[in-house]
Amino acid sequence: MKLAVYVHIPFCKKKCVYCDFYSVASEDFEEYLSLVFEEIELYRDVLKESEIETVYFGGGTPSLVPPSFLEKILEKLKEVSKKFSPLETTIEVNPESVDREKLRSYRKMGINRISLGVQSCDDGVLKKCGRLYDEKMLKEKAELVLAEFDNVNFDFILGLPGETDETLEKNLHFLEEFTPQHVSLYFLEVDENTPLYSLLKKNLLTLPDSDEVERRHDVFVEFLKSRGFERYEISNFARPERESRHNLFYWRNHDYLGFGPSAGGHLGRFRYTNVSDLSMYAKMVKEKTFPYDYQHKNTEEEEALEILFMGLRTKEGVELKRVERLMFLVEKLQKEYACYVKVKDGKIFLSEEGMDLSKKIFEDLIEWYREAEK
Ligand code: SF4
Repeated sequence: MKLAVYVHIPFCKKKCVYCDFYSVASEDFEEYLSLVFEEIELYRDVLKESEIETVYFGGGTPSLVPPSFLEKILEKLKEVSKKFSPLETTIEVNPESVDREKLRSYRKMGINRISLGVQSCDDGVLKKCGRLYDEKMLKEKAELVLAEFDNVNFDFILGLPGETDETLEKNLHFLEEFTPQHVSLYFLEVDENTPLYSLLKKNLLTLPDSDEVERRHDVFVEFLKSRGFERYEISNFARPERESRHNLFYWRNHDYLGFGPSAGGHLGRFRYTNVSDLSMYAKMVKEKTFPYDYQHKNTEEEEALEILFMGLRTKEGVELKRVERLMFLVEKLQKEYACYVKVKDGKIFLSEEGMDLSKKIFEDLIEWYREAEK
């Protein structure tokens, strides 16, 4: 069985105002390593039948932990799996906690892809968001990362507090100067559990106008396309052959295991999400219990629905034979969104304009599915 593996590194120096990922300020890395080992052991039977194709260290801030910590996890995965020669091993790094020495250690242990959390190149925006670097440091670290690796992603978020047209200009100039092989471009989503939510409620921060953000998004997308990036997923752009293999596992609805608090996994029709609490996670894995907060086995129809949703995010789309059970939904989609949905070579996919409308399209799909269930 081919498998992707995600390892959550739940440590951050300080919480960014908009962030709802699970992380803590602790530095007890050694203790955490032993917990991840315990969790990996729980999956020994699955792993010994698995060929691990991609590994992704996400967070939190994986660049905060000593590289030897990550190397031990890779060694452990190698020890327990049937085959371990990942085509892609990615680490998320933040500008303030990455340096040349760490980058070289990553390369030595087999990490071959870096995802740098840029988010914005505007000092005003970075400060409002509680990011721990400025434009100057960002440029230094971007240069370093690009000098050491030839498979690099830069993450950006649009719609952050303080964003203006000048921010857009800075972001695009930055990309002219430091061009990676992959760009992820997300819209800010405000979660109720974030400091940003409270700050907005108290009028201590404001967000830019949403139409303006949409307009800047369109300019950003056109810029990327003009520089040879292909929009291969709603929020992801890659130079040829530089798509994220790991994320393609998710979008193709293939099997993956996630380790660490808040991580999720997917084996066949089984889905799980781990508890988002380090103490609870520790207690459960020490008791040799799967640290699930949520677990569910999809019906075949639910599985087809996930395949449809994930696949429609991508330019390659979904094979119609994988969603045969939901033909009524596919047909309705083709009828209602005729200009935005295409079918070719046995696959259904959204046009570029359809990708821009995807939020509305997905809302409608859910509504139609629920109506049919009644
Ligand atoms: S955005 Fe990244 S660095 Fe900031 S708190 Fe969240 S996980 Fe940590």
